[in-house]
Amino acid sequence: MADCPKCPYVGLNLVRTPQGVQVDECPECGGRWFDAGELQAASADPAKLAAALEDGSDSKPSTRACARCGGELRNRPLISRFLRVDYCPRCRGFWVDKNELHLVDKLLKGE
Ligand SMILES: [Zn+2]
Ligand SMILES: [Zn+2]
Repeated sequence: MADCPKCPYVGLNLVRTPQGVQVDECPECGGRWFDAGELQAASADPAKLAAALEDGSDSKPSTRACARCGGELRNRPLISRFLRVDYCPRCRGFWVDKNELHLVDKLLKGE
């Protein structure tokens, strides 16, 4: 069971998004963990998203740890410079805070 990168010792719940993607959601802070490929599977433009994740420029160390492997996350932009996520270079999963999830929805619709 994965723990929330933000809230110590809070376990993540499995939820299904309107796009039909199963993601882990924190019951405390409402943020979501996307495993590698989960967001790509629902994206309007999977190739663009994959290319954006390959581009590691402008990434900085994050204070949080990966929900899956406990490794150090990197804080980085995802496609839009307005959306910054905590990305695990090892698992290729990433964490999105609740207040940024609407930006993910926009990405999924290709807006
Ligand atoms: Zn949390
Ligand atoms: Zn990891």
